[in-house]
Amino acid sequence: MKDVFIPIEPEVKDKPAEELLVGGVTRMTTIDFPDCLSAVVFIKGCPWKCVYCQNEDLQSREMNEGDGYVSWEYIDHFLDRRKGLIDGVVFSGGEPCVDPALPDAIKRVKEKGYKIGLHTGGMYPRRLRAILPYLDWVGLDIKAPLSDEAAYEKVVRRKGAAAKVRSSLEMLLEAGVSIETRTTVHPEYHTEEQILQLARELSDAGIETYALQIYRQPRGLPEEHLLERVGSDYPHEETLKTLESLFKKFIYRRS
Ligand code: SF4
Repeated sequence: MKDVFIPIEPEVKDKPAEELLVGGVTRMTTIDFPDCLSAVVFIKGCPWKCVYCQNEDLQSREMNEGDGYVSWEYIDHFLDRRKGLIDGVVFSGGEPCVDPALPDAIKRVKEKGYKIGLHTGGMYPRRLRAILPYLDWVGLDIKAPLSDEAAYEKVVRRKGAAAKVRSSLEMLLEAGVSIETRTTVHPEYHTEEQILQLARELSDAGIETYALQIYRQPRGLPEEHLLERVGSDYPHEETLKTLESLFKKFIYRRS
């Protein structure tokens, strides 16, 4: 896959939904938007290169041969036909906020009466601000302690990421949007102390729902790109107990 540099805060003007770059659609799911039967629209492109990315084929903004391009026209008709069968639409990726057509797409889906969910890494606070009024729920990936730029950079392999995510988190909390924060962890990238530090930062900020996801090996990646499998002793029981005590709702995803 060609490594295309994608700017973190593009000065690109918003575009119409017809120009949304969609890499795929899940027509119905019960697990991507809490308490909401939904469809998922996967947007192409992500400025980060996380060490454990499960969606490498969605990192590039370029459409390659064999990519399942989905037009806005298809999504529009599909959502008209799904009325009454699903309640919400999740915009996921890649990183959905990379796309200048996202605000228009979200507005138009909301006008159809659907609830809007967003999966984001929080690296585009300006675009997030533009769509805030339309959001019903956000799954916000937090990759490392927010006060530790070096730890963040080690995971996402881009500089200045943690500051952007802090702005996004503050904005979401201020707006009162329902949020699930989640972190995928691997012992080479997250010590137990770092996991606890990050959880305390979120708890102190007022986050009530936190999910800890243990790294699992992405399917189809060549052996040399895979991280070591995670042993069952990571993280320790004590760490999990502390995490549980910090949040109203703590979710542990091991597989
Ligand atoms: S933010 Fe998500 S899509 Fe982007 S590189 Fe990281 S894991 Fe992959």
